[in-house]
Amino acid sequence: MRIGIDLGGTKIEIIALAEKGDELYRKRVPTPKNNYASTLQTIADLVHEAEQTTGQTGSIGMGIPGTISPYSGRVKNANSTYLNGQTLDQDIIRILGRPVRIANDANCLAVSEATDGAGAGSNVVFAVIIGTGCGAGVAMGGQTLVGGNGIAGEWGHNPLPWQDAEEQRFQQDVPCYCGKAGCIETFISGTGFITDYTRMSGERLTGEEIVSRAANGDALAEKALCHYEVRLTKSLAHVINILDPDVIVLGGGMSNIERFYTTVPETLNRWVLGGECRTPVRKALHGDSSGVRGAAWLWPNDKRC
Ligand SMILES: [Zn+2]
Repeated sequence: MRIGIDLGGTKIEIIALAEKGDELYRKRVPTPKNNYASTLQTIADLVHEAEQTTGQTGSIGMGIPGTISPYSGRVKNANSTYLNGQTLDQDIIRILGRPVRIANDANCLAVSEATDGAGAGSNVVFAVIIGTGCGAGVAMGGQTLVGGNGIAGEWGHNPLPWQDAEEQRFQQDVPCYCGKAGCIETFISGTGFITDYTRMSGERLTGEEIVSRAANGDALAEKALCHYEVRLTKSLAHVINILDPDVIVLGGGMSNIERFYTTVPETLNRWVLGGECRTPVRKALHGDSSGVRGAAWLWPNDKRC
């Protein structure tokens, strides 16, 4: 049995998968707010409960926001900032008394979709979570690509390529939380989409409301969607020029906009070197469950420990 844990800012989810990936158990609880000790205990309780209920012992993988620094051994880049600086992997191994594999949540999405999702059978999968923020990760041969600094795939904090005049104005007005300006995340996160519409209309709506208005013929909402499509396409072309993945998988709230799966692949060749590009762009097959399933698949072959 494989156990996966998705440690998120608002909830902690656990899943137990049978050998072939069938779901045996799943539970979701709120994340103890800003309380590290209580977060560790909640995870340990969830594991014990999953194993008691299934009557089996599992390997344990965990997806986290951020990553473990290969230099300090401590969490960095987590938007749940109370995790930053903690020796999370060592602490969870100590409390559970067995090995635990930890990866960034976007890397877990990539592993999940590469294993038995929208990227199954592909060697190199680039996965993007476009929600409140924008995270991305890479799976190669079904395994997560961590990188020498632990940040492989974090292209959301590269600058948006080939900026037009409006995008340059946006860059000046909308700084990124990382301290730089013009980051891809500021444009193609759900937050960036809403910000763009608000700048044009003066009205702040939810992403769903803007999409719904566009479907009903609202010109400014449609313009915001078109802006978004071009920005997403340019950003992904940037990835293709560097990594040339076999498939690109989208997850997160913005991945539910179906037209992207036609418009984005059709226009990638405008930006990719040589003008030739057939890279498929697909929606995450496991949806919101991809993170927790990918955490379980961090143990791809091992019977366990
Ligand atoms: Zn940034």
